[in-house]
Amino acid sequence: MQTFSGIPASPGYALGKVHRIRKKAVVPPRRSITVEAVAAERERFDRAVARAKRQLTPLVAKLEDELGPEEAEILSSQLLMLEDEMVVGRTRDLIASKLVNAEAAFSRAIGDIVLRFHEIQEETFRERIDDLRDLEERVLLAFIDGQPDVIARPREPSIICARNLAPSETAVLGRDHVLGFLIDEGGSTSHVAILARSLGVPAVVGLRGIASGLTDGEQVAVDGVLGQVIIAPDQIAAERISRLTQKEIRVSRKLDYLKDLPAETPDGRRVALLANIELPVEVDEALLRGAEGVGLLRTEYLFFQHHDIPSEDTQVDMYREVVDRLRGKPVVFRTLDVGGDKVSGYLGARREYNPFLGWRGIRFSLTNRSLFKSQIRAIYRVGATGPVRMMFPMITGLEELLAAQDICLECRFELERDGMEFDAAMPIGIMIETPAAAQVADLLAGQCEFFSIGTNDLIQYTLAMDRGNSRVSYLYRPLHPAVLRGLKQIVDAGHGAKIPVALCGEMGSETRLAEVLLGLGLDEISLHGAALPKVKQVIRWTSYSEARELVAELLALPTAAETDAHLAVY
Ligand code: PEP
Ligand code: MG
Repeated sequence: MQTFSGIPASPGYALGKVHRIRKKAVVPPRRSITVEAVAAERERFDRAVARAKRQLTPLVAKLEDELGPEEAEILSSQLLMLEDEMVVGRTRDLIASKLVNAEAAFSRAIGDIVLRFHEIQEETFRERIDDLRDLEERVLLAFIDGQPDVIARPREPSIICARNLAPSETAVLGRDHVLGFLIDEGGSTSHVAILARSLGVPAVVGLRGIASGLTDGEQVAVDGVLGQVIIAPDQIAAERISRLTQKEIRVSRKLDYLKDLPAETPDGRRVALLANIELPVEVDEALLRGAEGVGLLRTEYLFFQHHDIPSEDTQVDMYREVVDRLRGKPVVFRTLDVGGDKVSGYLGARREYNPFLGWRGIRFSLTNRSLFKSQIRAIYRVGATGPVRMMFPMITGLEELLAAQDICLECRFELERDGMEFDAAMPIGIMIETPAAAQVADLLAGQCEFFSIGTNDLIQYTLAMDRGNSRVSYLYRPLHPAVLRGLKQIVDAGHGAKIPVALCGEMGSETRLAEVLLGLGLDEISLHGAALPKVKQVIRWTSYSEARELVAELLALPTAAETDAHLAVY
């Protein structure tokens, strides 16, 4: 038995078998061949190249159509490389001159170009190296008729272990058979952590090589509260985990009585508690926990479940499923927030050196106008079937908000013209998750109907700490004076313009912070279903006036250490 510690990312306990997600593990087989076999190997190579081209061609066309030629460039350049003599001719030569199989020859041809690119110390060539490596993987998979980025789903309840998992991969993974996550990279607000909380399963991240070092089928125990993984647990450790699991279930049952009670303080302050979800299936669980609706639906996850861009009608069906499941309760659809760590093969797949400061959220949508319009139109149309709101991510200033509002206006005009049913009066809000938006919150408040504070990004950008980097995860301090002041400023700006202010970052799921959020004057908190009953309990037991005093005291303290310590003894 061995115990390792990482960063606790989603509470709960699990005991089960390892299911390892391996990526980029396409190692070219290498064998010597005879002179007689050269022609056959060349044919195998030609077939693999043709297959890779058949996969790429429709993808490029679709991307060009939906996003324009610039976005299709990464994949179209791969297609071009498959015509290039340096790649194709050289592979065919190497098969004959080195008498090796086609896969080995192809990898060598690619490796030689990569070496040459390494010698040229220029950014553009570094990007080309990544493209070449992608192409290598694609063609090697084509030899075995595989598709890149295909990850194997567990066939039985398992603990998912990986070096890292992109949101597009977790979306494909689904929720069946997932007992928990063990991940080498990431911090407590990285996307796999968020997804684990949504699914209500434990997760430990920042395990630095431990997770990817586990073998399939190995027995492990996960303690998502302490952030521990126990490999091959002995009987005592396994019993401890089972006991804690049972206790969790008992505690959660004890809070069931809160389900239909309001989140209202004894002195009459009411806060709406809604759920954050990524997939429609999570709605039922959220409602069971007493959610008053969905305060954040990250639509990019719905997109990631498709292999290419869903049409407007398909989007209507996707969103409609959520509205139907909510049976009259409200939902806030956030328009696509791709980019950052949320990329997929067909959306936001451009490589960037600072992806979190790059082409993500509203920037991506404003550039891809036709895609953006299809999403806005779909959300408007679904608005005719239930209480729906729409919000934009990553706003940094008034120009972006006004540009998005203009597109909404255009969409309303078109829907009217086309005789479509839609909700013309749908409230439009924005995420406040950049320090810039916090600074100009008063200006933004006058131009939209609600705010939703995204503390995951707001903290990342305010404290300059990459939320996906386990080395700096210690800097994630929701009570840092810079964050607290920002939150206060946003709430005051929203209320100054008489618009409601919600919070939908992970901070909302932390029971210890519920009193602070209450005292800040938030009108709505959107959080994970599993955390909702406990947060509601805190609100029902706390006086609003005391919570306001607490916030005033915290705001007067100069360091995060002091605010944390003050809250702990309060
Ligand atoms: C946030 O940034 O707090 C947020 C809710 O958005 P996401 O986690 O999807 O970036
Ligand atoms: Mg965000």
